[in-house]
Amino acid sequence: MSVTTGVLYVVATPIGNLADMSQRAVQVLTQVPLIAAEDTRHSRHLLDHYNIRTPMTSYHEHNEEKASSELLAHLMTGEDAALISDAGTPMISDPGFTLVQQARQAGIKVVPIPGPSAVIAALSASGLPVDRFFFEGFLPNKRTARRHRLELLVTYPHTLAFYETPHRIADTLADAAAVLGGQRSAVIARELTKIHETIHSDTLEGLCAWQAADPNQSKGEFVLLISGNADPVTLSAEEQWIDRLMTALTRELPLKLAVAIAMEVTGRRKNALYRRGLGGDNIVE
Ligand code: SAM
Repeated sequence: MSVTTGVLYVVATPIGNLADMSQRAVQVLTQVPLIAAEDTRHSRHLLDHYNIRTPMTSYHEHNEEKASSELLAHLMTGEDAALISDAGTPMISDPGFTLVQQARQAGIKVVPIPGPSAVIAALSASGLPVDRFFFEGFLPNKRTARRHRLELLVTYPHTLAFYETPHRIADTLADAAAVLGGQRSAVIARELTKIHETIHSDTLEGLCAWQAADPNQSKGEFVLLISGNADPVTLSAEEQWIDRLMTALTRELPLKLAVAIAMEVTGRRKNALYRRGLGGDNIVE
């Protein structure tokens, strides 16, 4: 006799204000026999608040593989389970990917229970255009890597969204101003849904000065939103690299040879590279 597999519920929880828990989230977390939580001690506070007595098991970035296998085995016996993270929607800069991917591959039904997510909350109140946006999540810790990621986003024409921590927000603002341009409009959404919620708009340069002037504005949790590139002719990092390559090659080699090498390295078309080699336009082709 074949056993019907259980359902995996992916449940969003509040990002600060416990009242943001949905009725459906409470219902599901009360009814499932097992909750996989990123930090069981942290989530105990939420569950206690809603009088949810369901047992928890831990599922975090350091045990994703092992915990996923155990949870899949549990789901295979026909029992349901729910996945929650410390705050907001699981998998949005949070653990859960391995479990959800493997569950779907195993034919297990995965049901989202939607709710809070800091990036969506920030976008919704930002006043920036949000019909299209790019969610980068956390930028790298190290300055060089961080600037490199930002360089890749220079030409993106729609709103950019980042998550940030208190100890890095000032550096990230400074790097974003340096790489993307200090005059871009941006919004800092800090401590959303909490007592010190602040949503502040300015240019990137203005935000740097505003934060430097008030140390309280560097405390808590942050979403940083930056308007997209309004100037479509600004070259991407890749185009700038191709220009540098062509400049270096044509300095040392005859144009024909420079173009042949550049074609092999970049995969770009001959005519476009010729034009660039002759100092003409650098239209992306
Ligand atoms: N899964 C979560 C979500 O759906 O938003 C995000 C988890 S991620 C580990 C934590 C980051 O989200 C924080 O460092 C911060 O950048 C952002 N964040 C979470 N709660 C926030 C809040 N109340 N206000 C502003 N940003 C928040």
